[in-house]
Amino acid sequence: MQVADDKVVIFHYTLTNDAGDVLDSSADGDPLAYLHGAGNIIPGLEQALSGKAAGDKLNVRINPEDGYGTRQDELIQEIPRELIQGIENLEIGMQLQAQSEHGMQVFTIIELADDTATLDGNHPLAGVPLTFDVEITEVREASDEELAHGHVHGPGGHHH
Ligand code: ZN
Repeated sequence: MQVADDKVVIFHYTLTNDAGDVLDSSADGDPLAYLHGAGNIIPGLEQALSGKAAGDKLNVRINPEDGYGTRQDELIQEIPRELIQGIENLEIGMQLQAQSEHGMQVFTIIELADDTATLDGNHPLAGVPLTFDVEITEVREASDEELAHGHVHGPGGHHH
C-alpha cells in the first residue's frame, strides 16, 4: 500500500541539522504514526513520504519554509521579569509555556537583564534546515474514527 491521503503512515526517523547533530529520533522508542494529508506533520516531510511504501527508506533535507517556518522577529519580545511568575532562577535557554492568542506557546528565554527578560516565541526549529532519515514500517487504512478526528489513534499516535 502506498502513502496517500487518508492512509496511516508509521515510520522511524532520525532528525539532524546541517551540523549533523541529532535533534530528535524515534530509534529508542515507538515509531511515529500520523494521518497522511491531515497536516499532522511538517509539509516538507509529508510531501517526501507521499507515494512511498512500507520498507522504503529515505533521506530528505527540508528547508524551513516547508518545515517549522522561518524565524520571525516580531515573536521576540522583552517583558518585565515580574511577569514571569513561579520560577525561582531564570536562566537563558529556559523554555516557558504560556497562553497566547495562538493557544499554548513555548517561549525560550534568550536574554536576561536586571528587570527584563527577552522571550523568543519562535519554534525552536524555525529557520533550521532539517534532514530526516526515515524508514517506513507500515502503511495502513485509517479507521472512520481516525478520519473524523484528523489524527491517528493507538500506538505511536494520539491518545484519549
Ligand atoms: Zn481522536
